[in-house]
Amino acid sequence: MSEIEKVKCLIIGSGPAGYTAAIYAARADMSPVMYQGMQPGGQLTTTDEVENFPGYPDGVTGPEMMIQLEAQAKRFETDIRFGFITKIDFSGDVHKCWADDGKEIHADSVIISTGASARYLGLESEQKYLKLGGGVSACAVCDGFFYRGQETVIVGAGDSACEEAHYLSKLCTKVTMLVRRDEFRASKIMSERVKNTKNIEILFNTETEEVLGDGQVVTGVMAKNNLSGESITIQATGFFVAIGHDPNTKIFKDFIDLDETGYIKYEKPGTSLTNVAGVFVAGDAADKTYRQAVTAAGTGCMAALDAERYLSAIGH
Ligand code: NDP
Repeated sequence: MSEIEKVKCLIIGSGPAGYTAAIYAARADMSPVMYQGMQPGGQLTTTDEVENFPGYPDGVTGPEMMIQLEAQAKRFETDIRFGFITKIDFSGDVHKCWADDGKEIHADSVIISTGASARYLGLESEQKYLKLGGGVSACAVCDGFFYRGQETVIVGAGDSACEEAHYLSKLCTKVTMLVRRDEFRASKIMSERVKNTKNIEILFNTETEEVLGDGQVVTGVMAKNNLSGESITIQATGFFVAIGHDPNTKIFKDFIDLDETGYIKYEKPGTSLTNVAGVFVAGDAADKTYRQAVTAAGTGCMAALDAERYLSAIGH
């Protein structure tokens, strides 16, 4: 049996929420240990330019920002580990976690910052231009600005898609919205807003066949009407996917209260507390509304402060 490691504060996940929690926890002498997770740096590592994080007047790339956050967390001696937590047991007073290398960790406090993953259609051409940073995005608020004065396509029919289509309509000359059924899933108010926006064209019963490009950047989208079978080509320089997110919370489901869509529920609004004493949550794992780097960082700070108070209260 491998040796059990005892830690004061275990941080699971390494996006802006996790790194901010680490910076605060380390400066409060909580000797945090961080497991970075499957995608060190989180969702922002797939974002090209970040222009809306305060403090970067010239913008910064997502990966560069994560390198800087990691360096800042290390500066205060956060123990950052490349690896992920595969299993947890929060049934007793000790919070037990197991890492992918088999190590068993007993943590006095745990900060969950495992984030969420945007869903994509999974088309080869979509993934190609996503990886190239050439016009595919799952976040209009993050990337819409790069397409101002241009034509874009957005896929999805939920509240996110409507909100993002409306956001894009203020920047782009035209937004084409592809809805796979003959109706929206979004609330009436959101779908009405989209329907009443002049430069948004909604194509119902329409599915994406291919994202078109010149090898570097997106130039259009080929879509098909699933009733008539007719294919059309839509000119666009940006292809936005807004078909939902999956919070990375599966390993916690037996112990932590989740809502019906898998997001972690806050025990007390305005805090980072979960239903388990000593376990806190930060970032997109509990946020389906804002999902911004800066809001994730803010809740990371809250989680570290809440964890510090918890540790003081139990005499650490
Ligand atoms: P939803 O799960 O609500 O909607 C996802 C949408 O994507 C659905 O319309 C679905 O179509 C469509 N979709 C899924 N897969 C595909 C595919 N392969 N091809 C084409 N379309 C696809 O996700 P959201 O992110 O929109 O919302 C998540 C939650 O957050 C909801 O509860 C929502 O109400 C909430 N929210 C609230 C906001 C607000 O109030 N301001 C803003 C944003 C989100 P179909 O309908 O056919 O299944």
